[in-house]
Amino acid sequence: MGALTFDNNETGFLDWMAANPAGFVANRDRRGTSKYYPMAHRASCKALHTRDNYTTNDYYKVCAYTVADLAQWAATDSHRKLRHCELCRPE
Ligand SMILES: [Zn+2]
Repeated sequence: MGALTFDNNETGFLDWMAANPAGFVANRDRRGTSKYYPMAHRASCKALHTRDNYTTNDYYKVCAYTVADLAQWAATDSHRKLRHCELCRPE
């Protein structure tokens, strides 16, 4: 199915999250310079909800039905290894 990018699209992201509670989300740093990103989470992870904004400012989100899809996206998009959240441990 591949990965869906939500950039400056809060409504689209929140709609996807509501419709896909068992999905996976990668948090992507916009500048692409941090070794801690992109970071994969389960859609249910609390760490995704610590801010009021999701897809604006310094970060945006990429969603998929499997972690493998996110890993493939990360390799293609940024040539960086996908990190995995320690809290929700997406597998
Ligand atoms: Zn998480």
